[in-house]
Amino acid sequence: MELQFDSIGQIAHATVVVASRREESLRCAARIAQALVCQGEGPLPCGVCRACRKAQAGIHPDIIRVQRPLDDKGRPKKEIPVDQIRAVAADAAVLPNESERKVYLIEDADCMNTAAQNAALKLLEEPPKGVYFLLCAANPALLLPTVRSRCAEWTCAGDETEADPELRKKAESFLSLTARGDRAELLRWCCANEEMDLRGCAAFLDCAADCAADRLTGRASAEGMSPAALLRLEALLVRCRKMLQVNTGVRHILGLLAVDAIAEEEGVQH
Ligand SMILES: [Zn+2]
Repeated sequence: MELQFDSIGQIAHATVVVASRREESLRCAARIAQALVCQGEGPLPCGVCRACRKAQAGIHPDIIRVQRPLDDKGRPKKEIPVDQIRAVAADAAVLPNESERKVYLIEDADCMNTAAQNAALKLLEEPPKGVYFLLCAANPALLLPTVRSRCAEWTCAGDETEADPELRKKAESFLSLTARGDRAELLRWCCANEEMDLRGCAAFLDCAADCAADRLTGRASAEGMSPAALLRLEALLVRCRKMLQVNTGVRHILGLLAVDAIAEEEGVQH
């Protein structure tokens, strides 16, 4: 089940969104942000209103993502500097565009340097009316106690579907086929699973990414896959998950996996 709220009142103005995996905390925060701008009735987010659709497509003007600045080579820098938080403070004073609320989703909030965190204190304590802050943190211990004490803490429910043994089996068999580099078998597997619905496919992709992560960290056998191949596969699964969020069909996703899950150099060995 995807995260839903009965009312906006359940969401604090400043929340640290904690998950062991960065992607998971971003996904969870995106869902909370969507609930905050949703204009539907009943449990939030409704998933169908105009605001929800914009939020899902990442184009809602009142959901502002704060990301680490990039270096000359286009890679994210290690820290979020104080200037960036000052800019957020200035921007937060401006009324929202379309929604009654405005949400700042701070990716890697645990990368705010000390000055940035200190600058954030007042903002977190007394945000302008209708302004919400979601601080994504894979490592909340890096946040100052003064920051954490001003925020509610939301721990993302670990992938609930992870507990589903059938799903785990499905993800493991996909990874084993990929590890073996058997293109024909992989194609058959993808065809056999084409009937998954969107939600099932999302759960499968999350579970498979978790399995890849387990293999990378040595919690599970890599079955001969190199760390580079596992990283590449994990990135592919995450990319597919994002594509699913913008309504790419399940068949398309499975087709992509059938073609792309086995890296070219592994494929030509036999
Ligand atoms: Zn909605």
